[in-house]
Amino acid sequence: MTDITVLLPDGSERKLHEGATVSDLALDVGEGLAKAALIGEVNGEEVDLSVVLSDGATVNIVTSDSDKGLETLRHSTAHVLAQAVLEIYPGATFAIGPPIEHGFYYDFAIPDGATLSDETLEDIEEKMKEIIAADQAFIRGEASVQEALEIFVDHPYKCEIIQAADSSEIDAAEVISFYRNGTGFVDLCRGPHVPSTGKLQHFKLMNVAGAYWRGDEKNPMLQRIYGTAWANKKQLKDHLFRLEEAAKRDHRKLANELDLLSFPSELGGGLAVWHPKGSQVRKLMEDYSRERHESGGYKFVYTPHLANAELFHTSGHLDFYSEGMYPPMEMDNGEYYLKPMNCPMHCLIYRAGTKSYRDLPLRLFELGTVYRYERAGTLHGLMRIRGFTQDDAHIFTSEEGLAEEIAGLLEFVVSVLKAFGFEEFSFNLSTRDPEKSVGDDQIWEHATSALEEALNAHGLPFQMKLGDAAFYGPKIDIDVSDAIGRSWQLSTIQLDFNLPERFDLRYIDSSGERKRPVMIHRALMGSIERFFGVLVEHYAGAFPAWLTPIQVAVLPVANGHEEYAKDVLGKLEGEGFRCEFYRADNPLGKRIRDVKTQKIPYVLVVGGDDVSNGSVGVNARGSEVERGVPLTAFIERLRTEVDTRQ
Ligand SMILES: [Zn+2]
Ligand SMILES: [Zn+2]
Repeated sequence: MTDITVLLPDGSERKLHEGATVSDLALDVGEGLAKAALIGEVNGEEVDLSVVLSDGATVNIVTSDSDKGLETLRHSTAHVLAQAVLEIYPGATFAIGPPIEHGFYYDFAIPDGATLSDETLEDIEEKMKEIIAADQAFIRGEASVQEALEIFVDHPYKCEIIQAADSSEIDAAEVISFYRNGTGFVDLCRGPHVPSTGKLQHFKLMNVAGAYWRGDEKNPMLQRIYGTAWANKKQLKDHLFRLEEAAKRDHRKLANELDLLSFPSELGGGLAVWHPKGSQVRKLMEDYSRERHESGGYKFVYTPHLANAELFHTSGHLDFYSEGMYPPMEMDNGEYYLKPMNCPMHCLIYRAGTKSYRDLPLRLFELGTVYRYERAGTLHGLMRIRGFTQDDAHIFTSEEGLAEEIAGLLEFVVSVLKAFGFEEFSFNLSTRDPEKSVGDDQIWEHATSALEEALNAHGLPFQMKLGDAAFYGPKIDIDVSDAIGRSWQLSTIQLDFNLPERFDLRYIDSSGERKRPVMIHRALMGSIERFFGVLVEHYAGAFPAWLTPIQVAVLPVANGHEEYAKDVLGKLEGEGFRCEFYRADNPLGKRIRDVKTQKIPYVLVVGGDDVSNGSVGVNARGSEVERGVPLTAFIERLRTEVDTRQ
């Protein structure tokens, strides 16, 4: 028998007997890998482990350690879900079941109007566990369109997919592939799949929702079952824990409990009113932002919320961004739009008056409110909203000054985010898509390497997103991890070679030549509203002392201590602290419980001894009570905590 040679991704070679499969290769590398193997990648194409290798192929063994592996696991679990539902509900039919972030879903039509509920999900889960315990092999089959239509004769949605040969689900190729497992279950599928159902141990069905076939409301409503699936028990457990924690931290729920803001229905979708306590936090966020920008060399500007259509023709927003804008208002024989972005107006400010190289970099900053159309179904508390305020800056710099500006900017962004309590960051660098971009090669190269060098100079590891840049310039996105390990994309540093062109922005360089500046769009918090929502969830509503709406609650033990307690309150307020007084008209225990639901960092309880000693009982959030603390010592402690933003 002749041998074949295949290459591993690290460039090393393996000799195998002819007819060897991906699975044989995994075993040849090691038993551990053979056990963990889910699918293979042969010359870049994902395949089942049973695929026979050809001489000279480059083969990668995919395990659940990779995103691809997890995706296959989730996709395979979706098949088992469909198999279980079809077994439990005779006459049921199935539509599509793709993997999604953290899991999968599958859409079903269940006969006789039966509705799936949480209890039925438990039954379905049991059936899935039986299928998994049986360790059924996934076997690939291929057929012509005609044969496939016969196989799926009882399943009209599958037939529709088969017939839509140019649809996204199936290649236009004539061969239709499907996967069988168990005694009778077969699903239309491109593959590949894990070798057998035994690989799918760690899943859970989450919920049921209605979904129209092909997302079109003219089509029948199907029942969609969502599930989550992971590589091991710990991953599943951690994910379920995060979901539970996330529900507890939901900013919409906390905003209501802590009286921060509300979304009254008559105001309209995606719009909020900020109550005094939420506004207090927001004001502190904005004050801090202003303070940092002022010391960071930014110039503050203000621009209107409305503008004539002409501005958005010049900027290109009406050509490229109109679906994100609200319909125009007719007035003065022209059309006016709510602004979706502040950039065009900042360009107008730059353009007023001649600029020289000595004016650069020019950093314009505005807490600018913008309005963007979001479909009603996509709105989500403060995370997706129809009007929001950006901590927006546009920096105009020379090409030569770009690298230095970016380096300073990265430091600035990270330091501001850290002040809000974030510690883990990840950076993404999006590069040019040559098919869809403006600006010449040289400036793209120069700008991209400026971004890359700045990241390297700060020792910040980053991911390259090749070809992911907007058409007008490369960018760096900064994601933060919150207290429960969720990642949020907050800041962007986006270069722009397009708007300076469209607005014909110039500066006079040191040799008297007219040159085009490079424009940097940059927002740190992004949307103040969304950032506020992220902070509420990150801190679970328990803001640090510098940011919290109420810093100290003062509670006299009994009526007789009220006078002294008022005295304490007056001193604290005199120091500029934000306080609330809880009169002794309710039992102390009840008042303490009430105050704790408000997540106030310090509850001061004052009784008889305190009156005579000038002290307070300090009940710090999440710590033991300290009695007899001198008021002056407490004031000093709180002052330090606030000033250092601990
Ligand atoms: Zn499949
Ligand atoms: Zn901008």
